Amino acid sequence: MAEIYPSFGRTVRAGTHALTLGAALDELRQGSTSLLPYGNGRTYGDSCQNADGALVDMSGHASILDFDAQTGVLEAESGVMLGDIIAHGRPHGWFPPVLPGTQFVTLGGAIANDVHGKNHHRRGSFGAHVLSFDLARSGGEMLHCSPTENAHLFAATIGGMGLTGIILSARIQLMQVASVDIEEQVKPFPSLGHYFDMAEDGDIENEYAVAWLDQMATGARAGRGVLLLGNHSARDASPAGVGRRPLTVPFQPPLTILNKPFLTLFNLAYRAAKMRRKEISLTPYQSYFFPLDAVSNWNRLYGPAGLFQHQSVIPEPVAREIVPALLSASHAAGQGSFLTVLKRFGTAGSPGIISFPRPGYTLTLDFPNRGAATLALLERLDAITMEAGGAVNPYKDARMSAAVFKASFPRWQELEVWRDARFVSDFWKRTVLRVSGSA
Ligand SMILES: Cc1cc2nc3c(=O)[nH]c(=O)nc-3n(C[C@H](O)[C@H](O)[C@H](O)COP(=O)(O)OP(=O)(O)OC[C@H]3O[C@@H](n4cnc5c(N)ncnc54)[C@H](O)[C@@H]3O)c2cc1C
Repeated sequence: MAEIYPSFGRTVRAGTHALTLGAALDELRQGSTSLLPYGNGRTYGDSCQNADGALVDMSGHASILDFDAQTGVLEAESGVMLGDIIAHGRPHGWFPPVLPGTQFVTLGGAIANDVHGKNHHRRGSFGAHVLSFDLARSGGEMLHCSPTENAHLFAATIGGMGLTGIILSARIQLMQVASVDIEEQVKPFPSLGHYFDMAEDGDIENEYAVAWLDQMATGARAGRGVLLLGNHSARDASPAGVGRRPLTVPFQPPLTILNKPFLTLFNLAYRAAKMRRKEISLTPYQSYFFPLDAVSNWNRLYGPAGLFQHQSVIPEPVAREIVPALLSASHAAGQGSFLTVLKRFGTAGSPGIISFPRPGYTLTLDFPNRGAATLALLERLDAITMEAGGAVNPYKDARMSAAVFKASFPRWQELEVWRDARFVSDFWKRTVLRVSGSA
């Protein structure tokens, strides 16, 4: 059976045609098929799909090439997973300075989406730690790109969603840590107002900060949640429990089982578990950074129709008013978000021309796909975000309009200039190129 290349949300058609890197490089020299690199498909929508052409499967191109334990500079092929980079740097006291919420992301995918982590306020986005990379382009051209060599392509490729060519390998700077594990502090808050009062100080005092909201809580409890703060510890956590085989959702349930009673119980249980912890506790890095990786294929719980994620960033001056408006809109639509995460981005810029993080608060909402009703809600969330001068994240998206993308990323035309004509995605066709009928 042919391998399939899904997106994480599973609301868009999964790729079925992929080339190995070697075949793709031949194709770039001699052929005419359009290409798009595919890392590990942890993108939620169609920015990692290319229905009318071919994907380039980078999974076979995953070696660590060089590591300097004195300086923390690591060079790797682009298909290597962030989890493998952690394992490589850890014995020498080095750690990736930026991590998304799953370790099953490739180096190439992390650069191409310029991913962010719980410490954006201190370290900016992933692209800020990329020293250089080698890029394969049309006609078999190979370019070394850095802030000083092919600098425009360097900037267009960071956050360029795979459209500028294939990142073959990259050199990145790791961050020195005493331990990879985390001293975690859990601060419950009874309302969003209390969260906003704490958020800036939480950022100033801690390497990591992120809030989880109990979106099932209503009435007087609406807006409650927990702020999870963290700093690297001086000692390692006990390995107990870590390294166990992850739980798995072994098959696709015929319906979403994430209904309201389930979500209410889940949110209560999660909150209770966090509240039971001592105020500061030593937490293994896997549990702190990647709690969802403990259940493999958890996206199947959303049922066969898949899930949509909506991630917005709202400018700081209006966030106290707009974040509650976004939450109220999803309540009003009767759609509970399974995981609702709120984080304050810092002011650090990115070297990339298309980069989602910017000063403000970013709200992430997950919804089971209930067809037209969910699409209408997502449009409403887009409209609120746009009116507030915010932006919607394209690599979490499967349906935003061209207008929303262009307003979110006013420099989109620069990416179109540097896009390699042989590379395209279904997202780019649907928005910038406006090709109707693309998946
Ligand atoms: C549970 C979960 C939590 C997440 N948490 C976060 C988070 O906290 N912060 C965040 O920013 N994101 C987060 N994400 C999103 C995820 O980090 C990004 O979508 C990431 O880029 C996916 O990388 P991937 O290796 O799976 O690549 P894919 O999803 O396969 O591809 C991502 C993009 O990179 C391009 N690409 C891949 N490899 C190459 C290459 N070698 N050369 C050029 N382009 C390439 C692809 O064309 C595509 O446009 C999360 C996703 C999940 C599922």
